[in-house]
Amino acid sequence: MAERELDVEGIGMTSQRTRNRLVERLREKGIRNEDVLYVMSKVPRHLFVDEAMASRSYEDTALPIGYGQTISQPYIVARMTELLLEGEIPPQKVLEVGTGSGYQAAVLAPLVKTVITVERIEPLFSATRALLRDLGYRNIRTFLSDGSWGLAQEAPFDAIIVTAAPEKVPPALLEQLAIGGRLVIPTGGQGRPQVLQVITRLGENEYATTNHEYVQFVPMISGL
Ligand code: SAH
Repeated sequence: MAERELDVEGIGMTSQRTRNRLVERLREKGIRNEDVLYVMSKVPRHLFVDEAMASRSYEDTALPIGYGQTISQPYIVARMTELLLEGEIPPQKVLEVGTGSGYQAAVLAPLVKTVITVERIEPLFSATRALLRDLGYRNIRTFLSDGSWGLAQEAPFDAIIVTAAPEKVPPALLEQLAIGGRLVIPTGGQGRPQVLQVITRLGENEYATTNHEYVQFVPMISGL
């Protein structure tokens, strides 16, 4: 993403009114968590997409962010955030696998204590790290890494959110969950239906899985 003036408030198709309309749509689609809806009415999604795409940034669709990747659809961001916050204990330390544009991390940041996010594509990692810094996010830490291994040096996590779809749940992510913690992850790989799953760690070796909606994510790719 090129250098640009950060117009956080926005104007016209990127204005507060447009964000409010998106939030109304999310409410109609069934998002119930008011904290999530409030945060999404504030985060300037137009700054997380390419400038040429800004006028479409408050449509409820995924958009390209370069390198064959996409910023997730707002409904899915809201839904995954809502699922992540549903646990008995509010998560403090959250790992995100797949930083991409940084939008999901920015939505999580006001709702938890710390967001640790990993991305494997270097130029995306660098551009997003700079954007998050310029926007003043102090509790998001970015790492260039293959997130299928989790991030052992920062584990355990109260919650893990994965925004790329692996064929199978990577074992490292299960191991790096705190007891009582939850993993929100789309599984199923490409060309097959992917299901949004929530896996809760009940005990040392005990996990419970619930299945939610069908989703479509870019693949989780191993290696840098
Ligand atoms: N959460 C992002 C979604 C970006 S798309 C957002 O809000 O914009 C998914 C991202 O996951 C892509 O940037 C892709 O490069 C990244 N990704 C895929 N496999 C990965 C892996 N093994 N480790 C880290 N990031 C990965």
